[in-house]
Amino acid sequence: MAPSASRPAGAAGAAQAKVVLEEHRRLFNAAVTKLVNAQASNGTMMKPARYDYIVSHLREFPNLANKDKDHGVAQAYRTQTVGESEWIVPAKAGTRSLEELRRYVHTGELFELLLTEHLVCGHGKHTTLHNAVSARYTNITRKVVDLFCQSCPSCISKRHRPPGREGHKPILTHGFGVRGQVDLIDYQSCADGEYKWLLVYVDHGIKWCDVRPLKSKKVRAQNAHIPQHPLA
Ligand SMILES: [Zn+2]
Repeated sequence: MAPSASRPAGAAGAAQAKVVLEEHRRLFNAAVTKLVNAQASNGTMMKPARYDYIVSHLREFPNLANKDKDHGVAQAYRTQTVGESEWIVPAKAGTRSLEELRRYVHTGELFELLLTEHLVCGHGKHTTLHNAVSARYTNITRKVVDLFCQSCPSCISKRHRPPGREGHKPILTHGFGVRGQVDLIDYQSCADGEYKWLLVYVDHGIKWCDVRPLKSKKVRAQNAHIPQHPLA
């Protein structure tokens, strides 16, 4: 038995969920990369390299010569040690408690943070999700939140769709020979003498079917065998 055939249904479901999650991650990260590359030089989104530069620069800042100091960074940010990690927070945040601090995030951690908040608030979107992340993070914009929701497979599947038209509206055909369907079946591999093709004609008007063997599939041969009347 093939390995896939013996795999339990739960494992197959988990594998499928992982594929869906990775596709969500790929779509979101691609959209964020496009957004961060298009933002102005003073944009609030940070790539991981920019985040690391700010952390290391603030750490070395007191020991740097004045000409090497990036005063813009020092005026805008400060670091906050939390456990083993070092947060970047706004310099003007002052000495708030950890619960009140809103830290910066870089684009490499956006997906995981948004996914956690998105699930906590029951696939909350737009204002709900933006309010939730804004309570803890300072540079996640509404545009980024919308990009996340727009690429969430679960949210996409629940989008409102316009209702279908009431009732089925078939194309009505009245009478014989107005509309029909011709299928040509290839019997070259098991021909009956000279007959290598089978023409099947179904008339839509009276639901009548005729079958004729053909020696050739040329249009002229087909036309010659399309019946002009069911009793012909
Ligand atoms: Zn969702």
